[in-house]
Amino acid sequence: MAITSKDTRVLQNFIDGKWVDSKGSEKMEVINPATKECLVKVPISTKEDVEEAVKAAKLAFKTWKDMPVPKRARIMYAYHHLLTKNHDELAKLIVLENGKAFKEAHGEVQRGLECVEFAAGAPTLMMGETLSNIAEDIDSSMYRYPLGVVGGITPFNFPMMVPLWMFPLAIACGNTFVLKPSERTPMLANRLVELFTEAGAPDGVLNIVHGAHDVVNGLLDHEDVKAISFVGSQPVAKYVFETAAKNGKRVQALSGAKNHHVVMPDANIEKAAQHILTSAFGSAGQRCMACSAVVVVGDNDSFVEELKNKSNSLTIGNGMDEDVLLTPVIRESHREKVLGYIKKGVSEGASLIRDGRKEMDEMTEGNYLGPTIFDHVTPEMTIAKEEIFAPVLSLLRAKDLDEALAHIEKSRFGNGATIYTKDAKAVRQFREEADAGMIGVNVGVPATMAFFPFSGWKDSFYGDLHVNGKDGVNFFTRKKMITSRYDF
Ligand code: NAD
Repeated sequence: MAITSKDTRVLQNFIDGKWVDSKGSEKMEVINPATKECLVKVPISTKEDVEEAVKAAKLAFKTWKDMPVPKRARIMYAYHHLLTKNHDELAKLIVLENGKAFKEAHGEVQRGLECVEFAAGAPTLMMGETLSNIAEDIDSSMYRYPLGVVGGITPFNFPMMVPLWMFPLAIACGNTFVLKPSERTPMLANRLVELFTEAGAPDGVLNIVHGAHDVVNGLLDHEDVKAISFVGSQPVAKYVFETAAKNGKRVQALSGAKNHHVVMPDANIEKAAQHILTSAFGSAGQRCMACSAVVVVGDNDSFVEELKNKSNSLTIGNGMDEDVLLTPVIRESHREKVLGYIKKGVSEGASLIRDGRKEMDEMTEGNYLGPTIFDHVTPEMTIAKEEIFAPVLSLLRAKDLDEALAHIEKSRFGNGATIYTKDAKAVRQFREEADAGMIGVNVGVPATMAFFPFSGWKDSFYGDLHVNGKDGVNFFTRKKMITSRYDF
């Protein structure tokens, strides 16, 4: 499927191994954030489309669950090979519809590949446990089984990595899948399923239904959908969690974030500033693990000066261009919302030390916003509390590590937190006390890889078992216990 920037077709859904038109008449434009041109249209599918996809997935489950696990794993190896072969093309597609820099997109494809590598370990990951002689002449064994049809709902900011957090592992564990990609970045999903089919996936094992809330509600309400994996903004994550749970489904809902980076007085100022800039402004700040708040410990004005100076030399532009760091935000409407936050920051008394609206006025072609930095932000201010999801960074001040940790604790979100220091004692205290699920030590984006759970806390996650790692295997399987007596 060669999708070019000139393509104005309407995307199709993928159901039971076939490309089919959505039954819905409504369509949305998929916009290139760097040029504002329409790349393609995405159908806003209906509950009827969901019904067909779930029906196909339910039928496919009957045979897929019995496919020997090593054979399922071999499809993952073939898929990995095809994704690797098309690494550059996939990255370009991400840049086109999401707007992030090619280097970032290339890295995202790599993160996705690691999920497929992990899923290919299904024969080991799905192993049960046995204990002979648990009572006299009695043995006990635990087996793992798939759940059935699983639904996945994904956000715009990682069109490759997030779907791959979900369907390879779910499918390798014997489930069948219905994916609802973000309507703002839906193109890559079609390429992913195309390559999955080429890798040998049977009809109905992976289905795609494009659209918005009707498709989400269709999945949440469907009695044949046994589990929901969701990644997106906080209000929607909470709604998905509550609705799926009310309907008796297993659910994991990964949500918004406000990630704090603490700069200790002994930190390497130059390196810390560089890591923070890349974390805060790479992908236009639209990463759930982006640094959005820095806590400067002590009177470290030289660090603030370094950060401000470095932010002035960031390369801003189209993600297709070489060496670009700051790319456009996803939509004009999102930029409008962000401008509202900037005004709010000023009116609530934070000091705007770097105003990215300058670049916005200069670069009119795409949804650009230059690096924006507020200093002397307090935890009570709106810009400190809410997820802005844009290149807007808040600097808070703290007299010591205890006060910095207290700032982190006040945040309703708890996805990630990083400390920059050489002091082992501070590192240990931070690791033990920082109120977040993914901790970085001198690391700008401490996002976990496929082999470990992506373990946000507080309002950054609703559910119990996280995506990826052994949590992911537990989420996509259910256990059966066998107690046996042989001398009978
Ligand atoms: P979003 O919540 O707008 O959309 C996510 C998905 O939910 C999409 O598929 C969308 O169609 C659907 N959706 C949106 N509104 C809905 C509604 N009212 N009812 C039912 N479904 C609805 O999120 P987004 O803007 O695409 O993605 C950015 C958000 O995702 C940020 O908040 C970011 O922090 C979060 N995110 C979190 C993680 C994590 O690991 N915690 C990872 C990536 C992104």
